[in-house]
Parts: sequence; structure tokens; C-alpha cells
Amino acid sequence: CGIVGYIGSKEAYPVLIKGLHRLEYRGYDSSGVAMISDEGKLNIYKAKGKVAALEHFAESKDRSGTVGIAHTRWATHGEPNDTNAHPHASQSGDLAIVHNGTIENYTVVKKALEQHGYAFRSETDTEVVVQLIDYIRTDTGCTLFEAVREACHQIVGAYAIAVIDRRNPNQIVVARKSSPLVIGVGDGEYFIASDATPIVEYTNRVVYLNDDEIAVINRGESLHVFNMDNKESKVNIQKLRMSI
Ligand code: GLU
Repeated sequence: CGIVGYIGSKEAYPVLIKGLHRLEYRGYDSSGVAMISDEGKLNIYKAKGKVAALEHFAESKDRSGTVGIAHTRWATHGEPNDTNAHPHASQSGDLAIVHNGTIENYTVVKKALEQHGYAFRSETDTEVVVQLIDYIRTDTGCTLFEAVREACHQIVGAYAIAVIDRRNPNQIVVARKSSPLVIGVGDGEYFIASDATPIVEYTNRVVYLNDDEIAVINRGESLHVFNMDNKESKVNIQKLRMSI
């Protein structure tokens, strides 16, 4: 339903939580955050119900980290509960994903991954995507970006996704097909969101990702956008006209 992400020099958690509150108007049944901590751990906190329930749960936990992704879920596959809430982690424990939309061929992909020894924790279509990316990356030794691109070729459906990798806290990879995704360009920092409302208070420079595009967002000043055939497109930064 709603996606938020941050990479920069600020603490990610407050930006993510604020963003989730801004997306509450869309409606949701659960929410969650994933941050790569200062010690390099991938911490994922999720809770059924209001964002306030998530905040309460995370209160006593390690919320450090300057990169993270977050989600408000409107369940389509799997009942609303803590486990099915996003972000979802890969079996390796390295990757976390948030996803808006639905994956139509997830049962087929899931069966194939199970044959490769993947076990699934949730009932969601989304978990299949993160396990697939993990499998492709482990199997071929490719980069996260290449694995996401290959996974996008294999999945059928509608999606906006954001993926982080514990082993590279300096990057977020996002992709979209038939589900919106906006990247806010700040001063040495980037914001991602499913619509501009969580971004407006930080920057008015935005990049709207087009269908079938993947963006690699590197900490600092580099943002690269590619199509599914790996052709780099020009990054088109627009001025956002919207007030809070
Ligand atoms: N299909 C996914 C799920 O049920 C994502 C739903 C959404 O867009 O919130 O977990």
C-alpha cells in the first residue's frame, strides 16, 4: 500500500516513521521498518495495526542506522498479521524488501525456490520476490541491481519495490511496474515513497520512476536509472509543486 525509504546522513528511523504517518490516509492493516544498524545488522520491526503500535514495539529496540525502508500494508495475499507485514527478509538474512502491488505468478516461483531449499516464513506474494532476488544473487554472484533486474523479468504482476542489503548499507535499489514510486533528491540524501506526501517536507526535487525502470540509489550524490534491458536513462529531476 505505502512505501517510504531513506538513505543519507540522518537517522533513518524518524524519517521512516514520519513518512508512514503521512501515508496513513491511504488505509492499511499493518506496518514495518527495516534499518541497517550502525553495527551492520539488519533490524526489521513490524506490527499489525496502527503505526503507533509499530513505534511502541520498536521503542526498546535498536533503531540506529542511516539507511532504511518502511511500509504500510494492505493485505492481498496472506492475512493481516505481524509475520505477513513488510519488510520481508531473505532466508540469508541479508536482504529486506517492501512491496506495493501483487505478484501473479508467485506460486510457481515459490515452488521453484522451495526446490532450491528456500523456506518461507510468510504467506505473502512479496516474500517470493526477496527470496528470488537472494537466489539469483547467490547463484550467479551478481550485484543486487542485476539480481533485482533479473527478478523483475521473472515475476509477473504489479509492483513498486525497494530492497536493501545488509552487506552494502550504502545503497537502495528500487523498481516499478504499474505501481507508483517517487524518489526525493535532497542534499546528499535520498527519500523514496509511493507518493510525494512523505517527501515534501524535506525536498522539492523529485524523480518519478517510469514503468519498467530500476533505480540504484547510492549514498551521497549518485542516482542511476535503468530500463529492464539495462539501458541507462537520463535522470529527470522535477520541481515538486505541493505544500504540506
Ligand atoms: N501483495 C502484498 C501483500 O499482500 C502487498 C500489498 C500492499 O500493496 O500493501 O503483502
